[in-house]
Amino acid sequence: MIPLSHPRYRSLVTRERLAQYAKEGIVTLEGLTAHGRGEAFDYLLGERTTDSAIVAERTAAALLLRARHPVISVNGNTAALAAPEIAALQKASGALVEVNLFHRTEERVRLIENLLRKAGSEVFSGEAEQLLPLPHDRAWCRRDGMYAADVVLVPLEDGDRCGVLMDMGKTVIAIDLNPLSRTARTATLTIVDELTRALPRITGACQDLSAADQDRLIASLNNNYLLSDAIREMTGRLSHALDREVPPGHV
Ligand code: ATP
Repeated sequence: MIPLSHPRYRSLVTRERLAQYAKEGIVTLEGLTAHGRGEAFDYLLGERTTDSAIVAERTAAALLLRARHPVISVNGNTAALAAPEIAALQKASGALVEVNLFHRTEERVRLIENLLRKAGSEVFSGEAEQLLPLPHDRAWCRRDGMYAADVVLVPLEDGDRCGVLMDMGKTVIAIDLNPLSRTARTATLTIVDELTRALPRITGACQDLSAADQDRLIASLNNNYLLSDAIREMTGRLSHALDREVPPGHV
């Protein structure tokens, strides 16, 4: 009997949840396809957190703790997949939580903010302005929120906005299962791990990193190494993929 905690069941439950949130207007159809891309890369990773991702998660905690004005940027997929985990990270890191959407309507912003609040986040929701130099709706953010941030955590980001935030001189932390994406390659720090595995580890590290650990992690940050290691993990697993029996539950 395959336990219900098996990754295969977890991913089916997650898909059902996303489909439900899509019906409610929180997740877009484009968001569903982005999730599928993430699942494919997670499959290559073996649906587990690698050692280099753990280092990246601890480094992310150090950057958030050392920030003057840290902001967690939340889109529809992030809210649907991880609203309680975002609330826990906000408490541990002191970061602002701000909604930023590619497909932006006032109604969607309100739905996502409500979902986050219900899960325990304090959402920063002042007047949004078109402040980022982007030709689409992700340009909208708050002057005292993301626009003023020195460190921004961008789970499931698109490459354009990541590049713009970097050009503005911000430290950008991405969570992206695809180590080849423009976001992954542009950000200051990329965590190549699944969102709901990554967030609790960042929160845990926020609670127990010493000042000396924070200094050491920030000083040794090397995003190219982290991405290369993720690619090594994937190619290593692929080269031996047919040596293993089909694991139970992989239908
Ligand atoms: P880019 O613009 O950066 O080149 P992209 O076109 O893939 O990448 P999006 O589709 O906006 O941009 O980004 C979604 C990214 O999030 C994808 O790279 C996908 O691998 C990743 N992703 C999707 N779901 C998850 C998840 N649950 N955890 C971590 N990463 C995920």
